[in-house]
Formats: sequence, C-alpha cells, structure tokens
Amino acid sequence: GERVLLDVRPIIQEVAHLLRETFPRTIHIETRLDDALWAVQGDATQLQQVLMNLCVNARDAMPEGGRLLLAAENVQVDAHYARRVLEARPGPYVCLTVSDTGVGIPHDILDKIFEPFFTTKPVGKGSGLGLSTVYSIVRSHGGFINVYSEPGRGATFRVYLPAMPETQ
Ligand code: ADP
Ligand code: MG
Repeated sequence: GERVLLDVRPIIQEVAHLLRETFPRTIHIETRLDDALWAVQGDATQLQQVLMNLCVNARDAMPEGGRLLLAAENVQVDAHYARRVLEARPGPYVCLTVSDTGVGIPHDILDKIFEPFFTTKPVGKGSGLGLSTVYSIVRSHGGFINVYSEPGRGATFRVYLPAMPETQ
C-alpha cells in the first residue's frame, strides 16, 4: 500500500464509530487520544485493518460484554525497554493500544497467537489469520507489538509505529 505521513487519530475515530454501530451494546467502547500526537509514515487502510482485527478479537473475548479501549499516545522507547520486547528498537513511536476486559490469553499460548492459522475458536469461527496479518502489517511499518494478558481479566495489545516527533 501507499505510505504517507498521517495522523492515526481519524483512523481510530472511524474504527470506534464503526464498532459502536456493529458490536453488541454490552461492549462499551472508549477512545483516549493524545492531543499532541506525532505523525507516522503509513498506509491508512492497513492500519485500519490492524485495529479492526484486534477489536474483533476483543469482541470475541467478551461474549458477556465488557470494556474496549482504543488509545494512541507518543512514546519514547528507550534501550532498556527495547531489550525486553521482541524486535523493538529504541526511538520515538506512536503507541496504539487495544485493551479489553475479556477472557484473556493463557500464558502457554502467548508465543503462538501471531502464527498463521493458530486459533482457539471453533471450526468455521476463526481463521487464525487475524493476528498474523496484524504482525505483517506492523513489521512492514517498521514497528513492533507487545501483548499483555491476565487470564480471566482481559488482554492488552500495544502496537508501536515509528513516529516523526517533529510533526503533529
Ligand atoms: P482468530 O481470531 O481467527 O482465532 P487471530 O489470529 O485473530 O485468529 O487470533 C489468534 C488467537 O489468539 C485467538 O483464537 C485467541 O485464542 C487469541 N486471542 C487474540 N486476541 C485475543 C483477545 N483479545 N483475548 C483473548 N484471546 C485472544
Ligand atoms: Mg481474529
């Protein structure tokens, strides 16, 4: 896709709007957007796809309803943090957070969820391609992903996209 300098906030707003129209009413959708957010060099359609795939997973993890947070903030990744996260490099990033209060991810499958065709969903319900697509798009943007989950309490995906701090 085409790479342009973009503000991710309208992308997030559009996704949130779409979700409020299509997701069950029992899922409360909140957005939290930095008002001095840096720009990223990216493909808006692909980044929308990233957010949608993460949000559909969050929905599936909350059959009883819950809270879904979409956030964007500026983050300076330092060497100390980068060492602890796979494929992370120090530098300025825009961090996109998709966080849910769903069933969470068992720790023993955390290292498999980005593999193509890995799914815990019944046959016909999950393709297992959502997160592998997210991974390829984020890597092609030069970014990285961090997953945190407390089983039974929810999951938080953080997508870091290299940012242009001199731009807003
Ligand atoms: P699919 O959604 O088709 O199963 P994905 O690649 O999108 O495939 O996700 C792979 C697996 O990762 C899911 O089947 C599920 O077990 C786990 N998963 C992903 N996101 C979440 C989440 N927010 N909460 C709980 N489990 C998740
Ligand atoms: Mg999925």
